[in-house]
Amino acid sequence: MQVIYKIPELALYIERLKKQNLEIGFVPTMGALHEGHLSLIGNSKKRCPVTLTSIFVNPTQFNDPNDLKNYPRDLETDLKKLASASCDAVFVPSESDMYPEKDTRVFDFDGIDTLMEGEHRPGHFNGVAQIVSKLFDLVNPDVAFFGQKDFQQVAIIRKMVKKLNLNVQIVACPIIRETDGLAMSSRNLLLTEEHRKIAPLIHQTLMQAVAKSNGLSVPQIKSWVVETINQSGLLKVEYFEVVDDQQLIPSKTFKNGKNNIGCIAVWAGNIRLIDNISFNL
Ligand code: AMP
Repeated sequence: MQVIYKIPELALYIERLKKQNLEIGFVPTMGALHEGHLSLIGNSKKRCPVTLTSIFVNPTQFNDPNDLKNYPRDLETDLKKLASASCDAVFVPSESDMYPEKDTRVFDFDGIDTLMEGEHRPGHFNGVAQIVSKLFDLVNPDVAFFGQKDFQQVAIIRKMVKKLNLNVQIVACPIIRETDGLAMSSRNLLLTEEHRKIAPLIHQTLMQAVAKSNGLSVPQIKSWVVETINQSGLLKVEYFEVVDDQQLIPSKTFKNGKNNIGCIAVWAGNIRLIDNISFNL
């Protein structure tokens, strides 16, 4: 596996692949890699002859300085995992190389950034678009793989690709979970023992909500999910919203002929977890 730290080195690597007409599959990450990230690499390898991952903890997408400071970082272990997953190359840039000057670009997402993560993490998606657009520019991938776990992020990336006329196909990959149902996340490493124990309640509740959705209205399901999770005493729901998977407009009913996605953010102590589920199983 080629480990690339510098932009000119990346440029040479990409140029070589392009000359050989090899399709590039790209998996951007912030490191602290787990099976969720590795599944994206697996999907890329199935589809593309070359898979390139990036590891960069992007400061502009953090709205909370403590979250940025505490974000888990373990490059040595990450490189081992990537090599075992037969990833072809990894790009690990420095902050000063990615942001030689302050990025002042402001993206317009036609309102899909005003609710859920966008509402509760001001500036987050603008930062995501800043870094992903820079990485797309440097890597020039044919296909880029993102996790459905960050459901709203995938919609934001698709919107950005369309608005900027970028020639990259976006593939959304399924959520990978721990055996107890908790969606894998780098932030799970930061959970206390008691919060880690109770955290699977999030997915369990979402699954039960889907089972109940036949007989209950959207507002009833929303209240039930929030109450059920908050009753644990250890978890606190920040939001639970049901939206359609195309426009991300809050759904008034489950019977609207759309694919309705229930999206949730929950505080487990100081750690914020997100998850989602489709109501059209
Ligand atoms: P991150 O390192 O958290 O920025 O995530 C990098 C990519 O991995 C994003 O596209 C995430 O959506 C994806 N990802 C993170 N966790 C999971 C998971 N549990 N299952 C599938 N994809 C994931």
